[in-house]
Amino acid sequence: MNQTATAPAHRLYIGGEWRTTSQTLPVIDPASGAVVGSIPRGGAAEIDAAVRAGEAARAGAWGAMDATSRGRLLLRLAELIRRDVDLLARIESADVGKPLGQARADGVVLARYFEYYGGAADKVHGETIPFQQGYTVLTVYEPIGVTGHIIPWNYPMQMMGRSVAPALAMGNAVVLKPAEDTSLSALHVARLAEEAGFPAGSFNVVTGLGEEAGAALSAHRGIGHVSFTGSPEVGALVQAAAGRNSVPVTLELGGKSPQIVFADAPLEEAAATITRGISQNSGQTCSAGSRVLIEDRIYDSFTSNLAGRFRALRVGAPDQDLDCGPVVNAGQKQRIERYLELARRDGLPILAEGGLAGNVAAGGYYVKPTLIGEVPPDHPLAQEEIFGPVLVAIRVRDEAEALRVANGTAYGLVAGVWTADIARGLRLAHAISVGQVFVNNYGAAGGVELPFGGTKRSGHGREKGFEALYGFAALKTIAIKHAN
Ligand code: NAD
Repeated sequence: MNQTATAPAHRLYIGGEWRTTSQTLPVIDPASGAVVGSIPRGGAAEIDAAVRAGEAARAGAWGAMDATSRGRLLLRLAELIRRDVDLLARIESADVGKPLGQARADGVVLARYFEYYGGAADKVHGETIPFQQGYTVLTVYEPIGVTGHIIPWNYPMQMMGRSVAPALAMGNAVVLKPAEDTSLSALHVARLAEEAGFPAGSFNVVTGLGEEAGAALSAHRGIGHVSFTGSPEVGALVQAAAGRNSVPVTLELGGKSPQIVFADAPLEEAAATITRGISQNSGQTCSAGSRVLIEDRIYDSFTSNLAGRFRALRVGAPDQDLDCGPVVNAGQKQRIERYLELARRDGLPILAEGGLAGNVAAGGYYVKPTLIGEVPPDHPLAQEEIFGPVLVAIRVRDEAEALRVANGTAYGLVAGVWTADIARGLRLAHAISVGQVFVNNYGAAGGVELPFGGTKRSGHGREKGFEALYGFAALKTIAIKHAN
């Protein structure tokens, strides 16, 4: 894989300056496996410079700005993201491998995060507390300081908006470490933040490897909060590193989310939504409904409905804008193929596969969407996060068994319940151990207003919605003693 002479060499963004580093990392096109550019390989020195730039911004223009003005800057950035949404979609689609239309939708969600939190910036207020005679007591929400943000490669724009926008709205200076495979949209958003007029040092982007830049950010003493989205294994490392400095961490980790389908459900809508939910972004979605739990008496008809839809799914190059693009890298492709091999070895029925467009490049990381039937609930395919377009179907007798199987993994991120019996929907919504439950829908179109996060191995802390703002704020109580 040789880099072409014209391949762009990107720069990272610290303290309002665009910088290079002595070493770089390749930008690889998932549609062909070719090297198409480079990004700086930032490490401990660049992270330290970014944290210091953040501290300087907090002590200067950014710290002095009132909440309404901060909110306006976020709204201005949202406008610029909407202006550049087609460009951002092309950058993201080529970098991640996702179909162009899906990347464009991610760009719109990115803008929505800055709009939502821009509007919220001057609406976070404390309270007064009745206390003893001669006292007035009040609480105020203050910025924490400099916050660290480590995001994964599957939805770089959405993850950036979800994590960075509330932190900025609360007046923190941010240091963002995008995933090494997909840093380009973050660098373009940094350009837009500069154009919007964010003060130098308020928004910093350091590209680099997880074990170098990411580890340095998690362990930095100048960071007041770390927001991490990624795998449970790395989340544990980040939490341990931040814990040594007594720094709080939000962990948004993986999932093995159940979609439970009862015989009385709107079955056509359920089948369409479930297929879309696992094929979108080639299944590389933390909240993908990757297990479908089907009531025994409709198991055969519902799996054949799903099978027809899987056979109709088309996989191709990102700019062909089909149902699925390539997965993000060679390691991810191998990981998914290992699970498919395990299914074959254990004799699990492959009920359907999607089709690959004929004209894709040979070196691209393509995987066919696959539906697998009769998967025992304790099988690795029903327990582990595959993070690919693979749906496992599980037969359940009744509501009680559905609940046991739904709760029977180490994860607890999202669940879907499909039934016309609203009492049953609500019973299950309360009993399933996850952070979000959808009844007769799934994902609510990604609504930025809806608090999101996990239980168990899926993590802790909540992002999205108004709730996220409190995670990036330090609550202070002020007690004033005065004459009666
Ligand atoms: P990952 O954990 O390998 O990487 C995530 C980020 O952590 C990257 O930026 C990476 O560079 C960085 N990193 C790696 N090693 C590090 C270290 N030692 N110290 C600090 N940072 C380090 O995850 P991934 O493979 O990029 O993403 C896939 C995982 O993310 C899946 O498990 C998926 O479910 C999860 N995810 C969860 C959510 C959610 O909201 N719950 C959203 C998207 C993805």
